[in-house]
Amino acid sequence: MFCPKCGKEVADGFNVCPYCGSALGQQQPQYNPYGQPQQAAPVNPVVKNGCATAGLVFGIIGLAAMVAAIAFAYISIYTLSVGLAQFALVLTYISLVTSIVGVILGIVGIIMATVKQKGHLPVAIVGLSLAAVALLLWVVPMPMPA
Ligand SMILES: [Zn+2]
Repeated sequence: MFCPKCGKEVADGFNVCPYCGSALGQQQPQYNPYGQPQQAAPVNPVVKNGCATAGLVFGIIGLAAMVAAIAFAYISIYTLSVGLAQFALVLTYISLVTSIVGVILGIVGIIMATVKQKGHLPVAIVGLSLAAVALLLWVVPMPMPA
């Protein structure tokens, strides 16, 4: 559960928040004579972690651009399309830039989630992973026209 006053996570069983001293909600469910649904306890507001979300977006773009670049590069070999090969090359550089930005934002997002207690840690980890995979795809040999 979370303290409704200071928002810190408190282990179940505490009647008083060990951080701020605020009395915590009742532990036993109350009999409700009116049959109305009891109000849910105030949820700890998740502090927005913009870096995590942005890192995920850049990670997705970076990975998608790299996968598309590899696909177009191989297609260009079979179709002997120089234009398609050049497009694939452009996509690899788009992927490189967005992936590096995604890695940086993902790392910052993870730091913010763990150190500054901001949310979206899984989002930051997924974004960092996608961007890292996009960078790892550079080991895939790219068939470039001679
Ligand atoms: Zn508290």
